[in-house]
Amino acid sequence: RVRVRFAPSPTGGLHLGGVRTVLYNYLYARANGGDFVLRIEDTDQTRFVKGAEEYILDCLKWCGLMPDESPVVGGPYAPYRQSERKEMYREYAMQLVGQGHAYYAFDTTEELEEMRRVLKTDEHSSVQYDHNTRKRMRNSLTLSADEVNDLLNNGTPHVIRILVPENETIVFNDMIRGNIMFESNLVDDKVLLKADGMPTYHLAVVVDDYLMKITHAFRGEEWLPSAPVHLLLWQYLGWIADMPQWAHLPLILKPDGNGKLSKRDGDRLGFPVFAMNWYDPAKDETTMGFREMGFMPQAFVNMLAMLGWNSGEEKEIYSLEELVDKFSIDRVHKGGAKFDFEKAKWFNNQYIQQTDNETLADLAMPYIAAQGQNPSKELMIKVIALVKDRCTLLSDFWAQGSFFFTTPETIDETLIRDAKWTENKELFFAAWMDKLNELADWTDVAIEQSAIELLPSFTLKKGDIMLPLRIMLVGGKFGPGVYHIAELIGKAETIARIKRVIG
Ligand code: GLU
Repeated sequence: RVRVRFAPSPTGGLHLGGVRTVLYNYLYARANGGDFVLRIEDTDQTRFVKGAEEYILDCLKWCGLMPDESPVVGGPYAPYRQSERKEMYREYAMQLVGQGHAYYAFDTTEELEEMRRVLKTDEHSSVQYDHNTRKRMRNSLTLSADEVNDLLNNGTPHVIRILVPENETIVFNDMIRGNIMFESNLVDDKVLLKADGMPTYHLAVVVDDYLMKITHAFRGEEWLPSAPVHLLLWQYLGWIADMPQWAHLPLILKPDGNGKLSKRDGDRLGFPVFAMNWYDPAKDETTMGFREMGFMPQAFVNMLAMLGWNSGEEKEIYSLEELVDKFSIDRVHKGGAKFDFEKAKWFNNQYIQQTDNETLADLAMPYIAAQGQNPSKELMIKVIALVKDRCTLLSDFWAQGSFFFTTPETIDETLIRDAKWTENKELFFAAWMDKLNELADWTDVAIEQSAIELLPSFTLKKGDIMLPLRIMLVGGKFGPGVYHIAELIGKAETIARIKRVIG
């Protein structure tokens, strides 16, 4: 049975690359009648951020990509939070030590810093604790058995490191990239168990993928350098026949293609990188998310599906069900995918235009409520029908329609002067207000008709009053048909807004 997992570390907001990993996992599981597991990888307590786990779950809920097994719903392989599985990992680390595939290392922070300092001046590669340097450090390979026993018995802080073999080529098969070779001499002796008894990611990910019977593991390309360590662990623990098939997903790049889109890029580049608003308690700062900016989850998901994958068809708009049907790992690209915010907005626009007004009314309501307005659903549906074609984001319904819900705060009088204001126009509006007051049938057609009947007495034509009227009602030079606006805001409000300018 196909079993996939999304295994985030709860360290902050969920980056769009993370959501895409969730999506590809989800699509693969659904297409193959498999299970989608959410596992929280929280063994690095220095990076743990309160609220991040709930936030990740909320993001998955918003996107409609709910896991079958998780810390919340449980499942046959619970617990799904690594911090609650702490006791399980030690025995495997000890097994590896017993087999000679791992060793104790007693180096202090200062000793490690000193080693790195020397390496830097040697212009050594990025490899640090490896077959070379391990010989110069304090570990169970360089110390005598008695010394090691003494140190252990005295409770000397220590870690357990994997012993990476020398001069071997590690061949790793990836579903997207095929066979990849790694020189073992360039692989670090990664820490497996930390001094506090917690496993590192490397040990925990292998143990849990094994115990949770994961068959396919999709994760970001940034994890590729760790793959040889994981492969060795699968071998040494005797589980290689059960190792999942790996797929390292292409990076999501900055719009100019210049490097990976990072969590910090959002504010800098003027678009969101997080799925939803992320409040960072440490900085007391909120970073904008796609949801709050006004994206529909379906559009967001559709856009992410196409970032690094294509269906081979011209078509770009796919429902989640269609994606489940079409998605295949062999069409995932090897190269990084440039993020294009304009294209993301294009997707959202397509979804807004194809969504019925009643559904849109519910979706847009929170953005109107956030501005302190609470219109009826009936009014919302009418407004949406009028301004929808000008809206790309759900938040645009406020920008394009605020004047339906509340009197414009300021009317730019210069706009009216620009609209070729004359005394005749002033007189017309004064007279028209009385006529409007009397108007029984408050419809756009009747309102327009009453203007048409009155205009000749002031030697004015229809076109002469459209722009000033628009500015009076809207506060600016935009919006749908003016008589439609007048109908929707109602008689009293229409007259009041004209009066505000005419006096
Ligand atoms: N915990 C890792 C992360 O935060 C997961 C990597 C993996 O899927 O193996 O990205």
